[in-house]
Amino acid sequence: MFVNDSGGGVGVSARIIDGKAIAAEIRAHVAAEVATLRGAHGLVPGLAVVLVGDDPASRIYVRNKGRRSAQVGMRAFDHILDAATRQADLLALIDRLNGDGSVHGILVQLPLPPQIDPPTVINAVDPRKDVDGFNVVNVGRLVTGQESLVPCTPAGCMILAKRAVGALEGAEAVIVGRSNIVGKPLAQLLLRENCTVTIAHSRTRDLASVCRRGDILVAAVGRAQMIRGDWIKPGACVIDVGISRVAGPDGKTRLVGDVAFEEARAVAGAITPVPGGVGPMTIALLLANTLKAACAIAGLKSPEIS
Ligand code: NAP
Repeated sequence: MFVNDSGGGVGVSARIIDGKAIAAEIRAHVAAEVATLRGAHGLVPGLAVVLVGDDPASRIYVRNKGRRSAQVGMRAFDHILDAATRQADLLALIDRLNGDGSVHGILVQLPLPPQIDPPTVINAVDPRKDVDGFNVVNVGRLVTGQESLVPCTPAGCMILAKRAVGALEGAEAVIVGRSNIVGKPLAQLLLRENCTVTIAHSRTRDLASVCRRGDILVAAVGRAQMIRGDWIKPGACVIDVGISRVAGPDGKTRLVGDVAFEEARAVAGAITPVPGGVGPMTIALLLANTLKAACAIAGLKSPEIS
């Protein structure tokens, strides 16, 4: 079922899963649904993004989220707070956003400065507006198979895997990484699709042979090119979530994933590139979650975005 074009043959390349193109398709779908919602119900979904501090990478993420929200016809509300902001003041802002009828999604950009406790802040977000899907209410719903807002990166990985492989039922899925934002929710989503799921991490013994079991192998570690070609089952679908910046031979830096891409593409059946794989899907799914939240809050049926 999982052996595709390459068949794992040496010297034959895996199919490249074009996350950039799929993300653009999803954004176009969201934009069309937003236009319908506005026309039929006068409802404009609104996304509030809260950033505490001036981390340059986070600023870029926040700016991109605002730009993408506007492109699909949503309202964007950015709240950039000083790095010294007290937790009580951040909680007061979240409380205001929870009560603001024009805001349907609230995202608090992580990481937060040390004076702020992330779980306290994440759990203060109204679960109906928790478009990151990190609030314990949404996590609990996901684990127990109830309707919930699902974290964006794992949701994006699922769409990429399904587009590449089709039905996932019965597949051996191996995830390397057990973070709350990627590995753990992704395991739940793969289970929901009837995969047999293994979550590997830094204490896993013989990681290479665990990885070789995966018809679907997801790397979410943050260690540049750690997963080598001979860790991959021939014909597997490889989803690379990792993003690391490394120096190239020309002295310029470039982004790479957790997977040694050139080695892996000679063995895998399908693989996501870095950049241009999982990354663009995350913002696309954030917009889809904001649309879903707006519909749910208004008591309307949410469109299926896949
Ligand atoms: P994280 O919270 O740091 O978790 C990393 C996971 O990798 C942990 O579970 C850790 O194991 C495991 N790990 C570390 N070293 C390992 C090793 N040598 N062998 C096996 N497992 C190892 O990271 P994260 O937030 O999930 O992010 C992971 C990567 O994905 C990062 O590069 C991040 O930038 C990227 N990311 C990308 C997107 C996107 O939109 N494309 C979104 C989110 C994250 P322990 O639990 O045992 O410590």
